[in-house]
Amino acid sequence: MLDELERPLQSLRERGLMRQRRMLESPQGPRVSVDGAVYLSFCSNDYLGLATAPELVEAVVRGARSHGVGAGASHLLSGHSHAHHELELELASFVGLPRALLFSTGYMANMGVVSALVDRSDTVFADKLNHASLNDAALLSRARLRRYAHGDLAMLEQMLGQSGAGRKLVISDAVFSMDGDIAPVPELLAICERHDAWLLLDDAHGFGVLGDNGRGVLEYFGLAVPRIIYMATLGKAAGVFGAFVAGEDRLVETLIQNARTYVYTTATPPLLAVALSASLKLIDAAQQRRAALKRLIGIFRARANFRRWKLLPSETAIQPLVIGPNNEAMAVSEGLAKQGILVPAIRPPTVPEGKARLRISLSAAHLEADIVQLVEVLLEIENKA
Ligand SMILES: *Cc1c(COP(=O)(O)O)cnc(C)c1O
Repeated sequence: MLDELERPLQSLRERGLMRQRRMLESPQGPRVSVDGAVYLSFCSNDYLGLATAPELVEAVVRGARSHGVGAGASHLLSGHSHAHHELELELASFVGLPRALLFSTGYMANMGVVSALVDRSDTVFADKLNHASLNDAALLSRARLRRYAHGDLAMLEQMLGQSGAGRKLVISDAVFSMDGDIAPVPELLAICERHDAWLLLDDAHGFGVLGDNGRGVLEYFGLAVPRIIYMATLGKAAGVFGAFVAGEDRLVETLIQNARTYVYTTATPPLLAVALSASLKLIDAAQQRRAALKRLIGIFRARANFRRWKLLPSETAIQPLVIGPNNEAMAVSEGLAKQGILVPAIRPPTVPEGKARLRISLSAAHLEADIVQLVEVLLEIENKA
């Protein structure tokens, strides 16, 4: 058996596709320490710089003092604490929807929602560039999965028109995790209304960041309707861990009854719920952090004039620089690391073949000088290539 495992590993090594974990010796942040050296990092999804906020560290300690460490049981047995309950009320009110349900992770939330709502007689319609967890969720549900080309609303409309499925569920990242573009939610919603389909939005990269008050993609577009199932993660801009789904009361009640990744798992430690309540307050008051991030995105895009590499059109913290071939993307990432800058190279199968890229993620915690330095080094590497 072990010999059988060796061959595919060897093949990954030969094709330059072996993934490796970098070990951080410091907390997450714009500067991280790896192997005793300090790097300027553009790798995290900690868009507001909250992962190390003293208020959240304090909240975790408070949470541990009042609730201990582990929840000790699933939510439906005895793991559901007052801290979880409070957080769910706050999350629902934060995004302006009737009710919210906390999940342990975004991956589990997506698995849980999709498989609780659709089955064999139904069809899921998914953008080709959706996050892997949404595709896996559709597979687990056993519904038919139809994927439309990225942002191709005409193709989606045609698929829906031809479909005789029982339930129709359209699924989209709200902010695409490898391209940084924002889904055309009002148009998606109009299509869903015409075809009586549900719309599940995964706002992992919009929550906390999009909208004047950081409420996410719904605030950005000024939307809140019963047809939308809203999902966001809490380990990115919120700086902690976890995820939630929000929507109508009957939707959330259905998830409590049927979402297997909710029912059959130990509840999130209540101390994290306490930290997340504190994080919502920080997000609420983070106008300056959001403005700083927006400013840094502008500075980066104004300076990033590349000859061969292509900066994708993105107004979010995710700034993808498409290099093309896998080995070149890897070489650029390594070249940056030699100069003390960490930017991950993203290769297939995470992105399409021939579109290997640097996924530059900016944070409100970066300084203007950090952005200037990043662009200067990148331009230098492009010139030498
Ligand atoms: C990160 C991410 C997830 C998974 O969330 P976790 O809480 O990390 O499991 C789901 N969807 C998208 C779009 C993501 O970027």
